[in-house]
Amino acid sequence: MKLKEIMSPASVFYSPDDSLLAVAESLAEKHHSCGLICEFDKPMGIITERDIVRLFASQAGGEELTNLPVKEVMTHQPICIESETELSEAMELARSRNLRHLPIVDATQKLIGVVTLTDMVKAYLETIEKNKTLEDENHKLHVLSIEDPLTGLPNRRAMEIDVRHAAAVSQRRSEPYSIAMVDLDYFKKFNDHYGHQAGDDALIHVAHALRNSKRESDKLFRYGGEEFLLLMPFTQIEGAVIAARRLSKAVSSTRYDHSESPFGFLTVSIGVACNNNEYWEAVVEQADSALYDAKEKGRNTVCLVEPAPETEFWDLSQKSESTEPEPKRPAPN
Ligand code: GH3
Ligand code: MG
Ligand code: MG
Repeated sequence: MKLKEIMSPASVFYSPDDSLLAVAESLAEKHHSCGLICEFDKPMGIITERDIVRLFASQAGGEELTNLPVKEVMTHQPICIESETELSEAMELARSRNLRHLPIVDATQKLIGVVTLTDMVKAYLETIEKNKTLEDENHKLHVLSIEDPLTGLPNRRAMEIDVRHAAAVSQRRSEPYSIAMVDLDYFKKFNDHYGHQAGDDALIHVAHALRNSKRESDKLFRYGGEEFLLLMPFTQIEGAVIAARRLSKAVSSTRYDHSESPFGFLTVSIGVACNNNEYWEAVVEQADSALYDAKEKGRNTVCLVEPAPETEFWDLSQKSESTEPEPKRPAPN
């Protein structure tokens, strides 16, 4: 911010020969805290209310004082500052020289205004407030851009950033990470039967159950629609399957009504994949294909992807595992 934006234009100038009394009366009448004394538009001096009060206080009676020309008592050659100067620079000048009033001049050194320390502090505080509001707005926008508004979980965009990072770290350390894709079973039927709003409530419920059953170090995202993704850094496939089973159980054990599902309540299917590959998209694809297997196997189950033989950390006795299937109920008519 430049001084010209906050200065008060100097509409009243005094001549060096004006009497102190005339200047004092004029300042009082106009509620000005200082008077600028000029000759041919050039600042010659400055006198402040404070100077005048001090002068009168030091002179009992003050009779001679009032008739003095102001040039006898003004501060001569005041420090002036150009209107294009930045506020911060002017504040630094005022601070270092202990100035409360700065006459403002244009490029030709013609007096055009005045700025007080109070004006500067006010403008400075307003700038801070504006910047803070801007920062808050930016923060809100940032949160909105990475957060799913329905479940409050980080969204797919956030997932891409975090998974990319986890994959890069894993590759660097040659340690695996795992990904679980979680998909609600028969959710279209749920929506069709209970309505879209109830579907939204069910998604919130499932997100809550998943979030509460994941490990602290794992990160859950809403991948899109009725799909969630769990990122498990530094996790072997065995551990990832255990974590996925816990998620599956967490959802089914709430027995959230889903009369259109053969289980009678909401369930999820989960596909798990593990790698230390920087190409995280490939790992997500693998988890997706394991999810497809889980659907094929009857849903409400966890499957893992076919292990890559060259990957050292694969040590599996089975190529796919399922959760204990929940007792099936007859599908409703
Ligand atoms: P499957 O067991 O094979 O996964 O079957 P499905 O019905 O769950 O899968 P499908 O892909 O056929 O349908 C997904 C449904 O999820 C359809 C869509 O309306 C619903 N859905 C996706 N996002 C939302 C959402 O934000 N709110 C609601 N209420 N429904 C959603
Ligand atoms: Mg789906
Ligand atoms: Mg589904």
